[in-house]
Amino acid sequence: MEFFDLSGKPLPNQPANPVLDTGAAKKGQQTVRKGGKTAVTQDSGWRYITVPLSYAGDNAIGQIAVPTSQLSRQITFLKRILVSVAAALLLIAAAGGWLLARRALAPVDAITRRARQITERDLSQRFNLNQADELGRLAGAFDDMIGRLDAAFTRQQRFTSDASHELRTPITVMQAEVELMLARPRSVAEYQHTLGSMGEELDHLGAIVGKLLALTRIDVDPAGLAHEPVALDRLLGDVVGGIGVIAEERGIAIVSDRLAPVTLTGDPTRLRQLFSNLLDNAVTYTPDGGRVSVTLEGTGAGVCVRVRDTGIGIPPEHLSRIFERFYRTDAARAHNTGGTGLGLAIARAVAQAHHGDITVESTPGMGTTFTVELPCDSRTPERRGWDLRRLVGVGTAAR
Ligand code: ADP
Repeated sequence: MEFFDLSGKPLPNQPANPVLDTGAAKKGQQTVRKGGKTAVTQDSGWRYITVPLSYAGDNAIGQIAVPTSQLSRQITFLKRILVSVAAALLLIAAAGGWLLARRALAPVDAITRRARQITERDLSQRFNLNQADELGRLAGAFDDMIGRLDAAFTRQQRFTSDASHELRTPITVMQAEVELMLARPRSVAEYQHTLGSMGEELDHLGAIVGKLLALTRIDVDPAGLAHEPVALDRLLGDVVGGIGVIAEERGIAIVSDRLAPVTLTGDPTRLRQLFSNLLDNAVTYTPDGGRVSVTLEGTGAGVCVRVRDTGIGIPPEHLSRIFERFYRTDAARAHNTGGTGLGLAIARAVAQAHHGDITVESTPGMGTTFTVELPCDSRTPERRGWDLRRLVGVGTAAR
């Protein structure tokens, strides 16, 4: 360290310092003289820190020379510390991140493992991830979806086994009849009788296959319905007329004087099938001398058709199942009505394909009421177009 006056001469009583006699040291002094501020200059071996001072009332300059080798050793040491600390922090952060990610993604692994175990043969598995976060909600949604698939597969399996059973029965009967006929020579009358009975079994088979086909068509392509204006009152009148002969033979009165003039957009063939099935059932399950009534009214945005009978009724334990395919009550089986157990399934499928539905109320021994509710326009909203305007004012006409 050395002190100088402003002309650059060393102040008295100082040992001469040859280190400060270099170009870089002088440059530092010049800078302080000109600017009055601390200056830092450097050459290959030293760094010079030059500061303005006051000495015995005068301005002076103080200068310190620091060997840069010492500085660079310190800087290298500091750098090493910095790199080591940074590396340690990086390691800690990476390990922490890995642990956190592992913890956060553990449920995803669990879901993946469980998902691999789920096949169409075993839909009983669930994720059961009771977490209140996004993953928990996702797993919950998957559980619901698997539940629905499970129910659909079970229904499908039951349907296939019921269908096979229902189709096998008439075939078995016919096989037995043929074997019996061929066991020994028979009279013409016996052959005629057996052929007649086989004809009935074939009719039954034909009815089952026809209804299965109708159901499958609606299932496969519910949007493939026709969308035509249908005068529902006239359609119901036709169906009532068609069944009138059988009803008359059995002394059953069919009352259909409350049919409001209503037109809706739908598939006339399918709607005819729906109401034929309901009226067939009403007549079939009503004892001779009973009464069946059909009413039709507009409900503003839709229509409501009621088919009431004074028949045998349906016990409450069967009510929730009668719309299932091939489901028949014990009473219906005992009466051997020749039914297939598909009529109501078709009726509901048609109603739902028209975006409506059927409900039932019944009192055993008193009678049954089926209520069909249909919207005026059966098309999905995006398919509705200009011909919405062609609809007849159901609400006003019906009231
Ligand atoms: P089915 O061909 O046997 O009539 P459906 O699907 O039409 O089949 O009806 C299912 C079952 O619902 C019937 O077997 C019968 O037990 C019951 N059912 C339907 N309609 C009536 C009704 N109007 N009165 C009493 N029982 C009925």
